[in-house]
Amino acid sequence: MNQLDLNPAGDHIVRAMALDGKVRMTAIRSTEMVAEAIRLHGLSPMAAVALGRFMSGLQLLSMDLKNSSDSITGIIRCDGPLGGMTSVVEQDSRVRGFVLAKHLDTQLRSPQKFDVAAVVGNGVLTVIREQAGAKPYAGSVELVSGEIAEDLTYYLAISEQIPTILGLGVLLNGDGVKAAGGYLIQVMPEAGPEVLDYLEQRAGGFPDVTFLLEEGFTPAQILDLFAGDENIEYMEVRPSSYACTCSRERMAKALMTLGEADLAELREDGDGANLHCEFCNTNYHFDVEELGQLHLAKTTN
Ligand SMILES: [Zn+2]
Repeated sequence: MNQLDLNPAGDHIVRAMALDGKVRMTAIRSTEMVAEAIRLHGLSPMAAVALGRFMSGLQLLSMDLKNSSDSITGIIRCDGPLGGMTSVVEQDSRVRGFVLAKHLDTQLRSPQKFDVAAVVGNGVLTVIREQAGAKPYAGSVELVSGEIAEDLTYYLAISEQIPTILGLGVLLNGDGVKAAGGYLIQVMPEAGPEVLDYLEQRAGGFPDVTFLLEEGFTPAQILDLFAGDENIEYMEVRPSSYACTCSRERMAKALMTLGEADLAELREDGDGANLHCEFCNTNYHFDVEELGQLHLAKTTN
């Protein structure tokens, strides 16, 4: 195997195996991803912490997406002031997302800790996996804490039956992001109960992921520290990023899916059509002439 660069610059995700192949581990640094989400959406600190945790958590689940059409979508619907959030992760841990309440006021649980649970409230987490060659799979669970990491852990235990230890964190510095990331530790089916016991022991008292990132730990070093296994085997290191998939062509295709009567009505309206991408806050305008071309393409197909 080629020597992996375990410490690339910028956001990245690392996958490793430990404890004789009985434990699958993934860790991410997502600092720039969260900064980009803040920039695109104009997020308040409170909204940035909630969305940043959620998006980083979905990225941790993305290592087995192998095809360009594969994706994992996470949706939180909740009754707290946050309102809800949606995120989609694709191959190479490219992620996009949005939160309904972008300008939420800060609520603190302690002087250093944002109270995400307080703004989420009660609700439901849905995860949809779409992978080439497999039937789409959707699972939903009630939120157990609203702190996001616990909710994703509960989802994985209940819906996907995988015992998981998951840590997520977003640390802000004024309006900027000081550190963001997370780790995901999963026990393989063949492992005995002693493996999970050992991992739960390691998890008790394990430092906050943002503390470690701020101290200069790389995702690979975070996994190393967690595993306490000198034979940890690093399998893969990949860059990860915020990336929206919208484009003018895609928006035109969406318009083409409208019924002929609706398209004709939009044309006659005279103002053209405005489409908005929630994931990157981009507006697309189609003027009457362009709508006419789309309409013509539709009627002649
Ligand atoms: Zn977009």
